[in-house]
Amino acid sequence: MLKTSDPRSALWSSTAAPPPDTPPLTGDRRTDAVVVGGGFTGLSAALHLAEAGVDTVLLEAEAPGFGASGRNNGQVVPAYSRHNPDEIVAEFGDERGEALNAWVQDAAALVFDLIARHGIDCDASQNGWLMPAHTESRLAIAQAKHDQWASRDAPVALLDKAETQALTGSAHYIGAWLHRGGGNINPLAYTRGLARAAMDAGAAIHAASPATAIERTARSWRVTTPGGVVEADTVILATNAYSGNLWPGLARSVVPLRLLQGATKPLGDNVARTILPERQGISDARRVLWAFRKDGAGRMVTGAAPLVPGFRGPLRDLCTTQLKAVFPQVGDVDFEYLWDGKVAVTLDRLPRFHELAEGVYAGLGYSGRGIAMATAMGKVLAERVRGTPASDLPVPVSPLNPVPMRSLLIPLARVRMNWWRFLDRLD
Ligand SMILES: Cc1cc2nc3c(=O)[nH]c(=O)nc-3n(C[C@H](O)[C@H](O)[C@H](O)COP(=O)(O)OP(=O)(O)OC[C@H]3O[C@@H](n4cnc5c(N)ncnc54)[C@H](O)[C@@H]3O)c2cc1C
Repeated sequence: MLKTSDPRSALWSSTAAPPPDTPPLTGDRRTDAVVVGGGFTGLSAALHLAEAGVDTVLLEAEAPGFGASGRNNGQVVPAYSRHNPDEIVAEFGDERGEALNAWVQDAAALVFDLIARHGIDCDASQNGWLMPAHTESRLAIAQAKHDQWASRDAPVALLDKAETQALTGSAHYIGAWLHRGGGNINPLAYTRGLARAAMDAGAAIHAASPATAIERTARSWRVTTPGGVVEADTVILATNAYSGNLWPGLARSVVPLRLLQGATKPLGDNVARTILPERQGISDARRVLWAFRKDGAGRMVTGAAPLVPGFRGPLRDLCTTQLKAVFPQVGDVDFEYLWDGKVAVTLDRLPRFHELAEGVYAGLGYSGRGIAMATAMGKVLAERVRGTPASDLPVPVSPLNPVPMRSLLIPLARVRMNWWRFLDRLD
């Protein structure tokens, strides 16, 4: 049995189209921009740079989609994981706050536009994303999000119990907030499609080419890999929760949280028709958010955050219990695929755009909402490399700060999540 950390254990590696040929870097070369990391952030940056005529080389330690981009739940969500848009305005002011809100809101559209424009075959369905709630107090939270996004002309709706049941196939929820701009994709297929599109636009992508050092030279930056060196005017670091010691302090600026994902065997046709008939993505309004969706073959794909350190069995059981509680019609649940991935969480759950040195940029910390946000961050990074002043970009530049007491946070998060799960069960 494959380890859950092996990318081949993910459903998506069985269902995505094969990757493009991305041979390791051999020899030395000079380029305009070098991107380190082949997930949504790095590939979107490389694609937008190459389309603008910037000579670009992307270095990936393993293969495009090796990180969270190839292992996630595939929900394209046009909203923050924690904040409401009014809170963003209170924090950043009217102009910067609304620019960030618009960026988050438009990020899902960017994903589906890229998929359409580049003909990426990734089981994409833009049928909306749903936050259902099972209690009045949790519904009030979903309603506040709905109201604030509605006041910004987002394509959203508030659903009553019957409408929620019609879309989910579950009587468990009493109402929901629907965002019609969201949807689902096969994330590894999308990642590989972005890689292909970036290469078609002229970018060079090298797998099995870990960047092991970045050094300043008189004129530019030198990025070293085992097979060769790339010299470039600008560097983008897109290594997110998989960041190592390449840039001092970058890994310590986020909390890398390991999440388990599971995909059931395809449901029988009769049951599949009753569950998520329009295939919206779902992240419910519990304290410990529960996310699930159905893939094109009728598999339920779901996941959970760590309960205990050695987590395969307990988390599979938790996913089974939750699926059966919400969808009693599902019958026996048999998880055919179990895998895990690391999500980069920031303390305030907002993404980070860093200017680490002159010509060195980084984007990370999407806190579980990275399909849309990381794709959009790649575009922001590309615009910055092309000379757009940081003050004209929608994401504010943040200083690089270590997360305080980071090593304690993961065990503490586990304790807190178990407490929240207990409260969710009491609800
Ligand atoms: C289990 C799980 C479920 C999730 N579900 C969702 C969801 O449903 N919806 C959603 O929006 N988001 C979801 N996310 C979050 C989302 O997947 C991430 O935010 C997003 O993939 C981040 O993309 P990225 O390109 O920044 O990082 P990654 O995809 O992690 O890519 C970083 C890459 O950098 C490479 N790398 C690291 N160091 C080096 C080096 N020195 N040299 C070269 N390469 C290097 C790694 O190999 C890796 O491929 C989920 C995450 C997980 C883990």
